[in-house]
Amino acid sequence: MMLFEEALQQVIDNCTKGATEKIVLYQALGRVLAEDVVSDMDMPPFDKSAMDGFAIRESDIHKELEIIETVAAGQTPKLEVKPGTATRIMTGAPIPKGADCVIEVELSELVTEHTVKFSGHSKGNIVAKASDINLGDLVLSKGQIIDARHIAVMATVGCTHPTVFKQPLVGIISTGDEIVEPEIKPNLSQIRNSNGHQLVAQVVQSNAIPKYYGIVKDSYQATYAAIENGINECDVLILTGGVSMGDFDFVPKIMVDLGVKLLFDRVAVQPGKPTTFGTKGNKLIFGLPGNPVSSFVQFEIMVKPAIYQMMGIIEKKKNISLPLAEAYSRKKDDRKAFIPIKLTDKSTVIPTEYHGSAHINSLTESHGFAIIEIGVKELKEGELVNVRLF
Ligand code: AMP
Ligand code: MG
Repeated sequence: MMLFEEALQQVIDNCTKGATEKIVLYQALGRVLAEDVVSDMDMPPFDKSAMDGFAIRESDIHKELEIIETVAAGQTPKLEVKPGTATRIMTGAPIPKGADCVIEVELSELVTEHTVKFSGHSKGNIVAKASDINLGDLVLSKGQIIDARHIAVMATVGCTHPTVFKQPLVGIISTGDEIVEPEIKPNLSQIRNSNGHQLVAQVVQSNAIPKYYGIVKDSYQATYAAIENGINECDVLILTGGVSMGDFDFVPKIMVDLGVKLLFDRVAVQPGKPTTFGTKGNKLIFGLPGNPVSSFVQFEIMVKPAIYQMMGIIEKKKNISLPLAEAYSRKKDDRKAFIPIKLTDKSTVIPTEYHGSAHINSLTESHGFAIIEIGVKELKEGELVNVRLF
């Protein structure tokens, strides 16, 4: 049985970084930058007003001032603000020469049509040129997953056609004679396929492209044909089920028969001990256990890092240390355990009710899992645990 860290390293070592492509900004959501993004301008490009009001010299604040022009956003001021004068200005408009503050409308009172005085003193209200971004600044780095915030920055600096990594195609096959698709009401010996659909969603959440192949029966021939086809068509192939010790668990043997180089077939983790991994050329093949919590956890800790590696994603550290709200104990300590937990409103964690790897519903109310290391059997209330949030 291989240690988790060693198994993960084997996976990472066998990932080849994908090709890149140029896409339009409007299609960049969820994609991964394959280049640094540098600003082509200062932001803001000029000193601008943060308020609707009057641009004045601060030393004139107690005087009645002559209004010399009105500058709307998008216009350029023509006149300098000299002592005794004010420019009516709108939010986003450039600050006229001579002015060093903007007094908001709310503190301004027109004395005549052309003169204004102020009932209060407010400093600044000027957004300085380049106070946000400087020309030539690195605004986003290679490896960034692009979300709505990053789209805004890219639009600002004119990055209209970012270079991104191509998304790996990830095939998903569910195995099992007892498995039926969710629209079918299972008979007494059947259950619905949750893994297949869970994995499709996890692949999408990982910014890759899923290809769902459906359910394959527990027959050597059918499984062989499905795996062979999946390897040919996809960059990564994930199977669930068929990796345990049962008479009909064919997946590891078929992988070997198909010329897949098997790198591990047992990992010291809980849940997910029978997790199996191999490569054929630059294709990755994962055999995940059939139990839904195992397949969920193993995707998160083994498959997702592989997809991220292939797409050049630099993952921000996801684990945090939090105190346990109650004591925790387990019978055996020979595997690294991933146990579902909830966050409490006191910033502690509490294990979710969990009956084992078939207990799919334990995940629905959980916020993540606590990672319990090999050799740790008991943790006291208040002790820190390493938590990985979903
Ligand atoms: P296996 O790894 O094939 O021995 O399956 C382990 C357990 O997971 C069995 O109880 C299966 O019925 C269940 N299982 C296998 N595949 C799925 C699936 N696609 N969806 C939900 N449960 C599954
Ligand atoms: Mg099975």
